[in-house]
Amino acid sequence: MSGLVDKSLRARAEAVIPGGMYGHQSVGLLPDDYPQFFSGGDGAHLTDADGRRYLDLMCAYGPNLFGYGQPQINAAYVRQLEIGDALTGPTALMVELAEAMTAMVTHADWAMFCKNGTDATTMAMMTARAHTGRKALVLAKGAYHGAAPWCTPRPGGVVPSDRAHQHFCAYNDIASLEAAVAQAGDDLAAIFAAPFRHDAFIDQAPPDPAYARRARELADQHGALLVVDDVRAGLRVARDCSWSVLGVQPDLSTWGKCIANGHPISALLGNDKARKAAASIYVTGSFWYAGAAMAAGLETLRLVRETDYLERLQGLGMRLRTGLHDRAAAAGFGLRQTGPETMPLFLFDDDPDLRLGFAWSSAMLARGVYVHPWHNMFLCAAMTQADIDAALNAAEAAFADLKRDAGSLGPVEKLAFLAAR
Ligand SMILES: *Cc1c(COP(=O)(O)O)cnc(C)c1O
Repeated sequence: MSGLVDKSLRARAEAVIPGGMYGHQSVGLLPDDYPQFFSGGDGAHLTDADGRRYLDLMCAYGPNLFGYGQPQINAAYVRQLEIGDALTGPTALMVELAEAMTAMVTHADWAMFCKNGTDATTMAMMTARAHTGRKALVLAKGAYHGAAPWCTPRPGGVVPSDRAHQHFCAYNDIASLEAAVAQAGDDLAAIFAAPFRHDAFIDQAPPDPAYARRARELADQHGALLVVDDVRAGLRVARDCSWSVLGVQPDLSTWGKCIANGHPISALLGNDKARKAAASIYVTGSFWYAGAAMAAGLETLRLVRETDYLERLQGLGMRLRTGLHDRAAAAGFGLRQTGPETMPLFLFDDDPDLRLGFAWSSAMLARGVYVHPWHNMFLCAAMTQADIDAALNAAEAAFADLKRDAGSLGPVEKLAFLAAR
């Protein structure tokens, strides 16, 4: 069970926060022993409210790329905080950051900054509609583009008109993409694409290059814009838009999460074709022009350019993947590890209600490694080979626990909806 401090905070939260917690950081759909509240983070580690420290394979659900509290990035942030953060107008940092991002991302000629990924994806939708004068969007079923009424994954508070003009296809399925585009007909404004399939609860899948090329072709044939939503995968696949490795350049790309290593800023990038439309939409926010997060973003991008962080992440991810594969196999379990090595998702074979995944994740947590049983995880550049080896040692013991207990595990009641799929 969770610790006493966590328990007490949950009870107090129950009284003053609806449902006790909301959104993606609610631990309602995680094993019961997962802590809800934390007291701090340092590098690759996380400390919960009861003082227990974990190697954190979630990285704040993405924002932690160079380590919690990375000194150079935080120094840049604090320096700008002291000089001036939210002011009556932006600082020069806004222009510098737009220059840095457009220099880094091949397809991008301009940048607009906002706070959350949802701001950026919503602005992408508006830009495409302004550019085309049309309404329809083609999206992949199950892909996440944020938590505004047009895209939030749960039905509460959403009315059908919020979801009008949307046509869905299956990711990587060219025939299904063509069918959705045909449904949109002459009203097609945009094709939205996740850089790879990173839906929750199912295996991740790399993008089929032919699917990506077809999406580009169809957008061009219809005069629509192609959007790649790089909010989650950005900077963990490439130092460019994630589809650049396939040779496919979108018109718009959306960024967030780790671009300032956890400081609040997101971005919409676009090409010259979309520039006029982007200038025509009215989008803004009280905190969007604030300088401190932009300073953190500039320092993060400097580290992206000047270090081998990506190659190190890929090496660490490969070490974790092969080590886990061997240990799972030795214990007699089929563990499917999918997605890029830098953003792994683990699912057990023959585990439709995730009872094995839940028990193994709890056993990892008890040994000081925070893993997620049904969402993709993230590696950060503060991790070391010793951290990965510690995770592998924990995993070996966790597989042994699971082998002992597998026959006696009950269904995970809180995931009963999975059985109904
Ligand atoms: C997290 C995420 C978003 C939304 O970003 P927020 O900052 O949570 O609003 C959009 N798209 C993808 C792919 C994401 O992972």
